[in-house]
Amino acid sequence: MATRAFGAELPAWVDEEVEAARADLGTDEGRMRLLNRLAERNVAEGSGGPFAALAVRSGTGEVVAAGVNLVLASGLSSMHAEVVTISVTQARLGTWDLGAEADPLELWVNWRPCAMCYGATLWSGVRALVVAGDGPELEAFTGFDEGPMRDDWAAQLEARGVAVRIGVLRDEAVAVFQRYGAIPDKTVYNARTGSGA
Ligand SMILES: [Zn+2]
Repeated sequence: MATRAFGAELPAWVDEEVEAARADLGTDEGRMRLLNRLAERNVAEGSGGPFAALAVRSGTGEVVAAGVNLVLASGLSSMHAEVVTISVTQARLGTWDLGAEADPLELWVNWRPCAMCYGATLWSGVRALVVAGDGPELEAFTGFDEGPMRDDWAAQLEARGVAVRIGVLRDEAVAVFQRYGAIPDKTVYNARTGSGA
């Protein structure tokens, strides 16, 4: 019988990290510190790349869900941190539109989304995107190919009702990518590298 179901499951340590950081999540910097910690632990645990995301209520600042990149754990190339976080948040809230809540959601990420997650962000309905940074450092230090992003990506999001904020603890996020880049024999799961070809 051909496989008809697929999916990914967040490891329990993700929510444990959120709870442990709860007292620190009332500030922009506290949320970004949590993202960097999740990103780095994700690599140590072998679940995927050094990427994490949070779904945060724009009014209260409540962290509704956290997610990490699960490409290696799931064997699914689309399981980037943004897609995982958007999906688990939608599953928890029972809605496909994260902007339709009375207190709509923001997506927080430890770097600018890739080409795929840029689209996923638009489709999710979030009202804001907050990232640590948006420069070439991610690709330079980690070796991941983020795809053909538009130069005006932020303006395009803004034009569709997604406020964009860039530059919360940028240096700390870059340091995570630098440390990841220094790891020998890591799996950088770009297309056409799975078979070693
Ligand atoms: Zn992505």
